[in-house]
Amino acid sequence: MKEKYLIINAGSSSLKFSLYEMPSQDLIASGTFEKIGSIDSFYTIKTKDNKIKEELPVMNHAQAVNIMMGELLEKGIINDISEINGVGNRVLHGGEYYKDSVLINEEVIDNIRELSKFGPLHHPGQLSAINAIKFSLPGVPQVAVFDTAFHQTMPKENYMYPVPYEWYEENGVRKYGFHGSSHKYITEEMKNKLGKEPNLIICHIGSGASLSLIKDGKCQNTTMGLTPLDGLMMGTRSGVIDSSIIEYICNERDMSVEEVTNALNKQSGLLGISTKNDLRDVQELNTERSELALSMLKKSIINYIAQYYFEAKGDIDAIVFTAGIGENAISLREEILNDLAPVIGTYIDKDKNNEIAGFKEINEGLITTQDSNIPVYVIPTDEEAMILKDTYKLVNERKQIYAKPKTYIKEKLA
Ligand code: ADP
Repeated sequence: MKEKYLIINAGSSSLKFSLYEMPSQDLIASGTFEKIGSIDSFYTIKTKDNKIKEELPVMNHAQAVNIMMGELLEKGIINDISEINGVGNRVLHGGEYYKDSVLINEEVIDNIRELSKFGPLHHPGQLSAINAIKFSLPGVPQVAVFDTAFHQTMPKENYMYPVPYEWYEENGVRKYGFHGSSHKYITEEMKNKLGKEPNLIICHIGSGASLSLIKDGKCQNTTMGLTPLDGLMMGTRSGVIDSSIIEYICNERDMSVEEVTNALNKQSGLLGISTKNDLRDVQELNTERSELALSMLKKSIINYIAQYYFEAKGDIDAIVFTAGIGENAISLREEILNDLAPVIGTYIDKDKNNEIAGFKEINEGLITTQDSNIPVYVIPTDEEAMILKDTYKLVNERKQIYAKPKTYIKEKLA
């Protein structure tokens, strides 16, 4: 019998799932629950030859999991729950506990619960999904894949904020970084391409955006921080700002800290400056403010590429653009590389850059000339492939442990 693996990505009010056959990585079914917790919630399920949409109040993530399992069985996508060999869960925050993906046990669940302080919007739904799977698929191993884990190799001088030390020791205030599965995926792709543990600057520019500096295949620095609000200007997030603005605006506009933080996450960035958060819409606006938003975004990316280039003392094998904007925004890539060219020698190959985008025939490849000091690539990211890979690996390692004599298992699990 072919093995099936379920991947679950639970957001604050959504739950996405995909069911794969392994090791072929064939996608058998996928689906999304949206507006969980509200009466107009709905879900869609897609298979190779069918797509359904149901409108029905889904009050929480556990209920979404129950409906999902019911639909998978009822539609004959699986005939029996025993066909599912493992479940991979995307989890927002692994704190300092997790440098890599892990098999979920009670201790992991307790830690994810404790780390809800860093992910109050995401962790409750993610925990509720994990617990509901435990109930519907008893004994099936589950894996947690943390958005922060890949960045745990940063040196302390890069992850500390210059604030009172007790804030770090007692409250966990430090840079953790996010989009870890994407940065890890791109690092592995580039390792295969270059045949070495690479030194990279990875520009993951989507609605959310982060850059990372990779040294010998490991994360050395990244732009997101304690939360995803830090670093680059994004679709609706401000990125780094003078933190005094918060108190000032609270007083001036009679807003609470929560309201200001919400505005910095949801009403700032491209949206705050131009009135639109989607880059394509901003590009179409053609107003003074949209032009300003575009140059601010470009500058924000250039500043971090320059910072990481100097931090790596110029020892960079490649720069990579990925995610919605990185993979598709041809003109932005060109402007960034042209602005960097006089200093770091990123010489664009205009034809190649024009050819490569998600909506064109070619969606990946080199976009610089042969004499460029640093090659620059576009590589489509695939966070889900990374989650699937880690889940499959850990579940199979576990199987091998259990296949050994009992004494070995005791030692290994002690
Ligand atoms: P996230 O996963 O963070 O929600 P994505 O990686 O899907 O975001 O990226 C979304 C962004 O990509 C949007 O700002 C969108 O405008 C941008 N994008 C997608 N296609 C294009 C395109 N053809 N040209 C410019 N920007 C694009």
